[in-house]
Amino acid sequence: MPESYIKRILNARIYDLAVETPLEEAPVLSERLKNTIILKREDLQPVFSFKIRGAYNRLLHLSPEQMNDGVIAASAGNHAQGLALAAKHLGIKATIVMPKTTPAIKVDAVRARDAKVVLVGDTYDEASAHAKTLVESKGLTYIHPYDDPEVIAGQGTVAMEILRQHPGHIDAIFVPVGGGGLCAGIAAYIKYVRPETKVIAVEPEDAACLKAALEKKRRVTLPQVGIFADGVAVAQIGKETYRVIKDTIDDAITVSTDEMCAAIKDIFESTRSIAEPAGACALAGLKKYVEETACEGQTLIAIDSGANTNFDRLRYISERTELGEKREAILAVTLPEKPGAYKTFCRDLGKR
Ligand SMILES: *Cc1c(COP(=O)(O)O)cnc(C)c1O
Repeated sequence: MPESYIKRILNARIYDLAVETPLEEAPVLSERLKNTIILKREDLQPVFSFKIRGAYNRLLHLSPEQMNDGVIAASAGNHAQGLALAAKHLGIKATIVMPKTTPAIKVDAVRARDAKVVLVGDTYDEASAHAKTLVESKGLTYIHPYDDPEVIAGQGTVAMEILRQHPGHIDAIFVPVGGGGLCAGIAAYIKYVRPETKVIAVEPEDAACLKAALEKKRRVTLPQVGIFADGVAVAQIGKETYRVIKDTIDDAITVSTDEMCAAIKDIFESTRSIAEPAGACALAGLKKYVEETACEGQTLIAIDSGANTNFDRLRYISERTELGEKREAILAVTLPEKPGAYKTFCRDLGKR
């Protein structure tokens, strides 16, 4: 089954818009983790995430009529920006439906690429439902953020570049998973061309829709999803992406918010660039893998998938980093509401 994707990936003509991003070693991390740690810098794409690959490849497969009628998507995130830029490049009208609660910075980023923004509802689901009605009433083509073979193939070009840029042995590649488009494309390619290289999916522990599906052996919808890593905050893994991923990946692991924050700092120290939480998710998984398997001397690659974060967010991230690195901890104590309780507490602490 990966074979059909290999052809699509090799035929993806995305390079008049997307760039071949660098594959860079992170020397500080390599030394600390006693393995060769390499980052695939997808944060350096024109829209600061890999989403431009899938969106552009999908648009290139539209019929002339579809191109003429225009496209639509529901997204407040990186897919919206990738699609808006790809559509502008091809002269296609793009409509992006977003919840009314979307921060102005994201609305502006999409408008700046000449896409039409429609603000509807309070949640992504309401925006998405409205987008579907516009598909029917206006004849627009819906461009899915991950559950589409041409989107998956576009994202799969990341793997093609990695193997070309690093012809030597690779022990494992760590991939962040939201709806699974990036992971499906990468895993399909790697398992066909270089099956001995492990592909390891990484999700936040409070948005682990792939892990839940693998455990239940069917797609499930998580009742609740943590939105800290908004790029991968998806409640249900895609249908086509799951079909591909379940037979191609070697493992699926989860990471905490603090671990992602610590990985953002690692990326900063190695590259002086700032990843968004989803962008650092794969590196957090890589670090966990090294810790749990105690491997040494291996060549491990993490996808640095994006850099679209609000500047305000950095304060929170830098605070959490110390916890993620286990250098600092916050302890909470409940004292009984009676005289002398605090004194007893101090005595109990003693010289510590
Ligand atoms: C979309 C996105 C992901 C997850 O990709 P999927 O194809 O949905 O699994 C990871 N990181 C960033 C920065 C993203 O924008």
